[in-house]
Amino acid sequence: MSRCLRTWDLEVHHKNVNGGNGLDNAKVLCHKCHVNTSSYGDTGHNSPEPFSQETKDKALRRANYQCECTKGDCCWSQDRFIICST
Ligand SMILES: [Zn+2]
Ligand SMILES: [Zn+2]
Repeated sequence: MSRCLRTWDLEVHHKNVNGGNGLDNAKVLCHKCHVNTSSYGDTGHNSPEPFSQETKDKALRRANYQCECTKGDCCWSQDRFIICST
């Protein structure tokens, strides 16, 4: 399994657009992996509540300040030599 190893450009993603803005709905993704999610940029009626700074900090600490994406396809297709491992 590949895992994104980016530790920069980190953003906090809503796992579920209707899941609220609590820590259990937060997932740390780098910008590239975030863009690759289906809900990214859906700023219309589906836009979830933004996370508070405190929740973001907790999510980042939980993720060890690293992108939590394990999909691989988004990581592999972009900058594969820099950001991905197998
Ligand atoms: Zn990533
Ligand atoms: Zn990825």
